[in-house]
Amino acid sequence: MFNNLTDKLDKALHVLKGHGSITEVNVAETLKEVRRALLDADVNFKIAKEFTNTVKEKALGQNVLTSLQPGQLMVKLVKDELTELMGGETAGLNLSGSPAVILMSGLQGSGKTTFSGKLANFLKTKKSKKPLLVACDIYRPAAINQLHVVGDQIGVEVYSEPENKNPVDIAQKAIAYAKQNGFNVVIVDTAGRLAIDEAMMTEIANVHGAINPQETLFVVDAMTGQDAVNTAKAFNDRLNFDGVVLTKLDGDTRGGAAISIKSVVDKPIKFIGTGEKMEAIDVFHPARMADRILGMGDVVSLVERAQEQFDEEEARKIQKKIAKNQFGFDDFLSQIQQVKKMGSMKDLVGMIPGAGKALKDVEIDDDAFKGIEAIIHSMTPQERTEPAVINGSRKKRIANGSGTSVQQVNQLLKQFDQMSKMMKMMQGGGGKKMMQMMGK
Ligand code: GDP
Repeated sequence: MFNNLTDKLDKALHVLKGHGSITEVNVAETLKEVRRALLDADVNFKIAKEFTNTVKEKALGQNVLTSLQPGQLMVKLVKDELTELMGGETAGLNLSGSPAVILMSGLQGSGKTTFSGKLANFLKTKKSKKPLLVACDIYRPAAINQLHVVGDQIGVEVYSEPENKNPVDIAQKAIAYAKQNGFNVVIVDTAGRLAIDEAMMTEIANVHGAINPQETLFVVDAMTGQDAVNTAKAFNDRLNFDGVVLTKLDGDTRGGAAISIKSVVDKPIKFIGTGEKMEAIDVFHPARMADRILGMGDVVSLVERAQEQFDEEEARKIQKKIAKNQFGFDDFLSQIQQVKKMGSMKDLVGMIPGAGKALKDVEIDDDAFKGIEAIIHSMTPQERTEPAVINGSRKKRIANGSGTSVQQVNQLLKQFDQMSKMMKMMQGGGGKKMMQMMGK
């Protein structure tokens, strides 16, 4: 996320970060570099200029030059200002109303349908809500199907009327249906066009007026930079929406949209999308995002994600198995699946302070687990619980079955063996033993 910007800001602030001499001249130079970094990230010119002016004023006001740690103070000022620019506080979702109605708006391809599913899943699993998804795209039958596929995937009902060509009518009937059937949140996915056009705006404005939603969210692809900001403005002028959803932040986004959108439309970013999977949704926290942009990682979110995904009961079971030396390949597989649910590897690495920078040129492959999973899937139940039985001919069979080589199978068996030994050691009061082994 935002690798380029992070890199450039880091370089800009580098001089001041050390304890070298700090003068009014190099503060000004640093801020010039900061401004350039923001412009390169596709932040609007005016916003970038205001940003550095504010930081400069604050820096002078706080006597950056004579403070004990001028570098750190500057980083803090930049961080605080970035946080402020992205909205300051975390904005919540208004779920009052029975049912609470959430209307999705945005261009086609922005990720509306995907996000509708993610939000329904989030509300169902994290907030114990009973959501209903509504397909209001009357132009593309494929869009209705897509929402049904998403709904099936997360176990959420989808309301659609493929023959009905009146989106206002569909939305109203869906809300009535939700009331009758005990749904407490209704998420209305609307049609999007490739570009803003009058007919589309009128249509969504009509739906908006008729159902009077608690939340109107504007979904936008972060990869589109300044265009994202312009589209947001056009939609906001018409719908006066309540919040923004920035999608595709897992890609090679420059960051301009995340930084500029709030100050242009004066509406908070409420959620971000960080992948195609249903779990790739995060509540947007301006301060944490500022940390990430400045390469400080986001440990809080990382720990939260781990806590959300890891099942305590499962963890206890695994611990018992390790203690009894019964940790097998099936357990390993379920651990891999849990880690995968936390998000893409690239995204996770970016949350570790310093790691994003250190590994920025390393290709992080999300398919790395695929080979491992294929190998395990090709094992018999006995082989999974007693890897010791895997002899030469079995290895050949497993390699053939999984489309890998005997060498890869060997490698996995060796790693698994080492891992099992290590786990055993950590269990049996062996923390000390392991430290000794590592020469500490
Ligand atoms: P809609 O036309 O606005 O409903 O957009 P879709 O939900 O169909 O999304 C368009 C494409 O973007 C699909 O291929 C999605 O899988 C993909 N997509 C949506 N959200 C994200 C995201 O956060 N990250 C990535 N990488 N892809 C996404």
